[in-house]
Amino acid sequence: MSSSSQSNVAYPRNSKIPLPPVTAERYFATCRFCNVGCGYDIFVFPDDQAGNPKAGQNAVVYNMVDKVFNRNLQNYMADYTQPVPPLGAQIGTPWIGEGMVSRTIRYNKNTGTWESVYILEVPSSECPVNEGNYSTRGGRNAQRNWSPFSDNAAGFRVYTTRIKSPLIRWNGSLQPVGWSYAIDVAARILKYYLDNENFTYPDPVGPAATQVLAIRADHGGGQGGGVFSNLMPGLLIHMGLATPFVRFHYQVAFSFTQDALEEATNGNGTDTASMLDISIADVLVLWGIDEYTTSTVNFIQHIFDNITGVTVTRKQQWFESGEPAEAGKIIIVEARPSETVKAAAAKLGITVEQAQSGQSDQMLFVQVNPGTDSELANAVAAYIYYTYPFFIPSSWMEEG
Ligand code: SF4
Repeated sequence: MSSSSQSNVAYPRNSKIPLPPVTAERYFATCRFCNVGCGYDIFVFPDDQAGNPKAGQNAVVYNMVDKVFNRNLQNYMADYTQPVPPLGAQIGTPWIGEGMVSRTIRYNKNTGTWESVYILEVPSSECPVNEGNYSTRGGRNAQRNWSPFSDNAAGFRVYTTRIKSPLIRWNGSLQPVGWSYAIDVAARILKYYLDNENFTYPDPVGPAATQVLAIRADHGGGQGGGVFSNLMPGLLIHMGLATPFVRFHYQVAFSFTQDALEEATNGNGTDTASMLDISIADVLVLWGIDEYTTSTVNFIQHIFDNITGVTVTRKQQWFESGEPAEAGKIIIVEARPSETVKAAAAKLGITVEQAQSGQSDQMLFVQVNPGTDSELANAVAAYIYYTYPFFIPSSWMEEG
């Protein structure tokens, strides 16, 4: 952006974030955006009210003892009379940013009138999943609330990014179009590639539109909308077009996002390990998942804690007596040095090159050519089978 265009941008001024008053209604929810399932506290209160920064004079209070993750927030009252320390949420005083606030209206059944309210969606210090942490996605949960104030909480930044119709790029700019027009254009383009630039798999797959790179940017999240709201596009991409080049958000498989549903549907869930396990595992393998981008809090909270040794005491608590408890090792398999690779290397104080060339005894980055990681998986499996044949069930050998 040039300096002249920068000077034309009118950044709205922020005003004070309203703390929830002790009378605020409080609800508990899971973040709606991704599979990590971070916990949020939702405060709702009339917009002419606000809590006091002093402890006990606002609604940010916790009462939780977590014996698994060793956290104690019993009778904790957040105090905002001093600046919140970095990661203050982990000790019970969450920083509340403007993205966590929305001002809207709601119908008051008691008075029969519509009233203006603030809605605060604050990452919960009580939740063992995120321990008050959040990603830039989840930190903006509140902004997804509809508001007649043009998604513009008074005094906060104006959000004008909501897309209300399909957009098609004409002459370099995105233009709104109708749904039938957008579907017709998409169908014709995809049909061209399916008919003319394809690879034919054996039956029953048949032709695949291998020139089509699809990104299913869905999110599962606590509200579970991801896969279901994207089921038809998913079927089109995976089965209709049959292109192997699909970036399905965080999963390598076209499967249900929610772990329980994956289990229930007999799928081998791709992200079903418990966060306790993740925080104390000896070795973590992140395969094609780009965890930092797709399951952010799991990565920056539990995986970072593991590989930096923060959870060694927890390991000693859960491991058998005498079992070594050290900082975890991490293996990342991806087609590119992604944000996950860079962040893990930075956290360990090494370079990506060192992680890739085997110079680190804690992190290994395996860069594969796109589409070839199944060969790597087969090679690893073959190595395990030949090196440890006693692990192979004899029935497999007979079938093989
Ligand atoms: S990692 Fe981010 S998007 Fe995912 S559940 Fe947590 S806050 Fe939400």
